[in-house]
Amino acid sequence: MNWETLTQIDRRHIWHPYAAMPNTQPVYAVARAEGCSIELADGKRLVDGTSSWWAALHGYNHPRLNAAAAAQLEKMSHVMFGGLTHEPAVRLTQLLLELLPPTLNQVFYADSGSVAVEVAMKMALQYQHAVGQGKRCRFATIRAGYHGDTWHAMSVCDPEEGMHGLFSSSLPVQYFLPQPASPFHGEWQPESIRPLENLLAEKHDELAALILEPVVQGAGGMYFYHPEYLRQARALCSRYGVLLIFDEIATGFGRSGEMFALEHAGVVPDIILLGKGLTGGYLTLSAAVCTEEISAAISRGQAGAFMHGPTFMANPLACAVAAESVAMLRESPWRQRVANIEQTLRHKLAAAAQWRCVREVRALGAIGVLEMVQPVNTASLQARLVEKGVWVRPFGRLVYLMPPFMISQQELDFLAEQTLAAVAKEYGEAWPLSE
Ligand code: PMP
Repeated sequence: MNWETLTQIDRRHIWHPYAAMPNTQPVYAVARAEGCSIELADGKRLVDGTSSWWAALHGYNHPRLNAAAAAQLEKMSHVMFGGLTHEPAVRLTQLLLELLPPTLNQVFYADSGSVAVEVAMKMALQYQHAVGQGKRCRFATIRAGYHGDTWHAMSVCDPEEGMHGLFSSSLPVQYFLPQPASPFHGEWQPESIRPLENLLAEKHDELAALILEPVVQGAGGMYFYHPEYLRQARALCSRYGVLLIFDEIATGFGRSGEMFALEHAGVVPDIILLGKGLTGGYLTLSAAVCTEEISAAISRGQAGAFMHGPTFMANPLACAVAAESVAMLRESPWRQRVANIEQTLRHKLAAAAQWRCVREVRALGAIGVLEMVQPVNTASLQARLVEKGVWVRPFGRLVYLMPPFMISQQELDFLAEQTLAAVAKEYGEAWPLSE
């Protein structure tokens, strides 16, 4: 198909994420992607700074992931999971159990991150019902969080700064606590936990669970907070019978510098959510993994079963690729790679900390962030980034980099330098590489 026709049809008929119809924002047609490089239809190659929204851990078009997908296709791409099971699901489960804390061993596979959040919230409600706490049907979370676009997931996204304020009058009402004031790299300030302490003391008999993105808040602000918050939250939840859900859909599989962000705190939740990087960015798959205490209570409860079962549950093709991706990650020197990305991004992006347009520069794991003073003009800045040869997708006040872990040093240096060059050009900052 001619690329011009393709983009015309796209603009006229296809929705894009958070976009109008017809789309008022430019979209770039991609011909192929390989390693850390995305090739546009006009032949321009971009170094990828997004991992396609936290997912493509091993880069694109990886021979081992391709082979795993092809081998599974030869057998079956899908069969229903009601009454049937298969090796890809079991093999993936074995691998996950080797990585996760031992008490998290009851795995529910779902289709996307948002659905995993819905599943976890339903698990919490069914659990509380089963243990005679049916009045506990609300959730607590912290501000500036993001947990997805489906209904209950939206209800625990930031109600003001988030993307779902429009729906607030019809969403379930949840309890929002302030964002933990202690940053990851700063001193722990004991007052950071007081709002949670007070809420649980007063409202625990209404609360089914506390849901948090541990350490790294992603799409809600790319903020890194102190792990002590999680340790204290764990103790408080246990004291008051409130379940603790960690949404590691974005942070899981090494992104924060640990295999799971919970390891920064040494804390184990009652339910953990995985997605995005689970299949190395190849296919959509997520998991909500809970303790046996929760699964046993749900199974003893009124329904005698957990009441959820999507058509594409544990899709064999996605599970086969996910198993290969997890195995590849474990075999790779991911920890050193992520540490090197952190160090490079911290060092390279530091130059922008002095700019008037930048509020703060921060890096943790394979995540580097320029928090701007004002919201960016995505279309304009994106065009400059593409011109500079990098694929970075700024939104709100954030310009952030989270490349695939296998990015070469040369590509990483290029990515950071050209991102700064594009931002400098957009805001008229002096920067040696801006021309
Ligand atoms: N939770 C977190 C922490 C996320 O970052 C996201 C996606 N950005 C989701 C949930 C939702 O995942 P999905 O887009 O796959 O539904």
